[in-house]
Amino acid sequence: MERWEEHVRRVVPYTPGEQPKQEHIIKLNTNENPYPPAPGVAAALGMADAELLRLYPDPLVSELVHEIGSFYGVPDEQVFVGVGSDDVLAMIFMTFFNSDKPILFPDITYSFYDVWARMLRIPFRQIPLDGNFRLCARDYETVNGGIVFPNPNAPTGELLPLSDVEAVAAANPDVIVVVDEAYIDFGGVSALPLVERYKNVIVVQTFSKSRSMAGSRIGYAIGSKKAIRYLNDVKYSFNSYTMDRITIALGVAAIRDRAYFEETVGKIIRTRENTKKELATLGFEFGDSKANFIFARHPKVSGPALFAALRKAGIYVRHFKEPARINDYLRITVGTDEQMQALVNFVRDYLKREGPVV
Ligand SMILES: *Cc1c(COP(=O)(O)O)cnc(C)c1O
Repeated sequence: MERWEEHVRRVVPYTPGEQPKQEHIIKLNTNENPYPPAPGVAAALGMADAELLRLYPDPLVSELVHEIGSFYGVPDEQVFVGVGSDDVLAMIFMTFFNSDKPILFPDITYSFYDVWARMLRIPFRQIPLDGNFRLCARDYETVNGGIVFPNPNAPTGELLPLSDVEAVAAANPDVIVVVDEAYIDFGGVSALPLVERYKNVIVVQTFSKSRSMAGSRIGYAIGSKKAIRYLNDVKYSFNSYTMDRITIALGVAAIRDRAYFEETVGKIIRTRENTKKELATLGFEFGDSKANFIFARHPKVSGPALFAALRKAGIYVRHFKEPARINDYLRITVGTDEQMQALVNFVRDYLKREGPVV
């Protein structure tokens, strides 16, 4: 090791899902939306004026902030935007998690939380989910420097009832409680109404899943005016121009089209429920996912083996090696009906070929 390396901020980075280069694969591994963004997004892209790229974008991102505020019926001062919810969450960690006490999050959850905590040197404690992969609100009634969890949880898809989210918020008035609602639009009940009553609650959402815009990187947080002010202070101390002009215009076009959003989300929910039926018929076990993915295992098949067989057949799903108790599970993104049928057909044949005779 060279001397200068002693002063490097060493980190173990987050591992995103694979983005294979080849075409004609069925990509069910990163919870992207199978449908295109709202038609207005392509139109806005067509109208984008290269000449305007000379100028810095609006550091306040006022137009997009305002559209998001109107969509949810909250004042602009309660909305913060960033480059995907990953950026928003990182800013939240930096702004609010500055206690000597550990922040809390589940043991099986979004695998970026511990990466940010380590990078920012925030002490943390992972609270085990129960045997059914459910989060138990009572476990969060303990000394802590802040709380963060996805709802529905990732990669399990389990939805925590709003009353339990409220119980966590009510039990922890002295710290910020972050509800990461990346998947809330696929059948969950949002904690947004809690923001009014609990100044310590911040809700984070994204355009990446339910609005089909993972490629554009748009995320947002809704919280009390005071919390959003603190968040903006940190953002402007770090990078004032996080969102570019074109992305802002595309985001505005996307959120204005409520009808298209509801239609595509509705299709994904229907496909998810049909896929659950098919997978159950094949003997899979899974919880009642309220997200755009299903976290499933087959009692007679190893997770890594099925993952590899699917991948060889050009069907990409996600497998997590850690912790050990989820090693036999696959997280399968809900795509189109055709994609899910292809997956089901492959698995049916696979079980006939490789599985023990049931
Ligand atoms: C996808 C996801 C995010 C990040 O989404 P981006 O907005 O694309 O950065 C955050 N949290 C959870 C739980 C997710 O699954």
